[in-house]
Amino acid sequence: MSYDLIVIGSGPGGYVGAIRAAQLGMKVAVVEKDKTLGGTCLNVGCIPSKALLSSSEEYEKTSHHLSTHGITVKGVSMDIPKMLKRKDAIVSKMSKGIEFLFRKNKITWLKGHGKFAGRNDVGILVAVDGDESETVVAKNVIVATGSNARHLPGLKVDNKIVCDNEGALAFESVPQKLGVIGAGVIGLELGSVWRRLGAEVTILEALPTFLGACDDAVSKEAFKLFTGQGLHIHFGVKIGEIKTSAKGAKIAYTDSDGKAQTLDCDRLIVSIGRVPNTQNLQLDQVGLAVDERGFIPVDGYCRTSQPGIYAVGDVVRGPMLAHKGEDEGVMVAELIAGQHPHIDYDCIPWVIYTSPEIAWVGRTEQQLVAEGRKYKSGQFPFAANGRALGMDSPDGFVKVLADEETEQILGVHIIGMAASDMIAEAAVAMEFKASAEDIGRICHPHPSLSEAMREASLAIYKRALNM
Ligand code: FAD
Repeated sequence: MSYDLIVIGSGPGGYVGAIRAAQLGMKVAVVEKDKTLGGTCLNVGCIPSKALLSSSEEYEKTSHHLSTHGITVKGVSMDIPKMLKRKDAIVSKMSKGIEFLFRKNKITWLKGHGKFAGRNDVGILVAVDGDESETVVAKNVIVATGSNARHLPGLKVDNKIVCDNEGALAFESVPQKLGVIGAGVIGLELGSVWRRLGAEVTILEALPTFLGACDDAVSKEAFKLFTGQGLHIHFGVKIGEIKTSAKGAKIAYTDSDGKAQTLDCDRLIVSIGRVPNTQNLQLDQVGLAVDERGFIPVDGYCRTSQPGIYAVGDVVRGPMLAHKGEDEGVMVAELIAGQHPHIDYDCIPWVIYTSPEIAWVGRTEQQLVAEGRKYKSGQFPFAANGRALGMDSPDGFVKVLADEETEQILGVHIIGMAASDMIAEAAVAMEFKASAEDIGRICHPHPSLSEAMREASLAIYKRALNM
């Protein structure tokens, strides 16, 4: 069978790229080896983790925070199997939604493992190893095979005692003591879920600083808030021997002062990053190879060195974020169709779905300092925002960084409730090269959290109205 485009992998990079290509009139097939469509994001990543985040937040709120509203609740309990069932139902609903979108857009799902098998006169050959193995051909191929959890050498992940993201999204009961290795996005999000549900959570991080990718002011605030909530976070540690048994794990580590320590826990989550998934793709069959970190090298338009072959999402450079992969999938489809798409990688928002959330777009203050760029900074606390107070969410702030001379916004950093939604305004502003004054002059609804964005922009000119 011959196609205009074959996409290998049905995660956000792959399935969204496939839909855009079909919208543009291409005959498209997607090769997916899993039983369900949607990739890491939908099956064991963004969507199930956010479902558990919400359940655990509701539980914590009902157990501890409703009394400030004058509401008395007694006998609160948590049904973990029901919580997991809800999460699974959301995943299944959304995965079936992608199957529906494939049918609607006449996209063929080739079930099996896809790998390159050379070229012929028509185009690029892709062998699909599934229940029925076949070789298909396409003028263009997008590799969107995503990433897998990085494991610690010599430590077996059984997803019962030692877990990666897959196991950590499916604990059938709340561990009494939960260890987490890695204080990155996934470790913090999943650690927070199980802490809210009652686990004593200890996070061990090898790096000497907390959330190094965030603006320093945000990481400082986050550390204060998260440790205040009860997360035990130790950074600058060196992990030693890890012993496991049917009952739990014992982790020997050296703390930042060089002292030998041990951590006993019932369950251990290993969240030390993700590695691009290029296993058995037979890249050499089409003259491709991975770089020293395992990524498929591409240019700013996701083109590989080989004509007609593209790669998007977690399998290429840049942040491992679902929306970055989606935008790359769309860009490649439009490129193949002869359009002139473009992604401004500086305007891709980052989000950490902790409570409160952390979100940012553009440069951090420490990056601007390192670049020697002259800038102005404005900050506004949610404690001075009426809507945040009404919602009992006074923690955090919005910080806006702008070029000293042109006042163009260079970065926006938010820690606070609904930061994931608020950051979209900043991304739009930055895409349109707005100045801080532009945001300061735009009418924002009152009372709303978004007013903090306006106030932080006004704070650059020392004219915030409510501070
Ligand atoms: P993936 O989603 O990894 O999909 C790749 C697909 O390719 C898989 O279905 C795989 O089975 C298939 N595949 C691989 N090799 C082959 C082959 N040879 N043949 C056929 N099929 C193949 N990002 C966010 O932006 N927001 C979040 O809130 C967020 N939360 C996360 C929470 C967790 C716990 C995790 C683990 C990740 C999270 N991420 C989040 C990251 C996000 O999931 C990834 O960035 C995103 O899924 C990458 O998309 P992708 O299309 O590149 O690949």
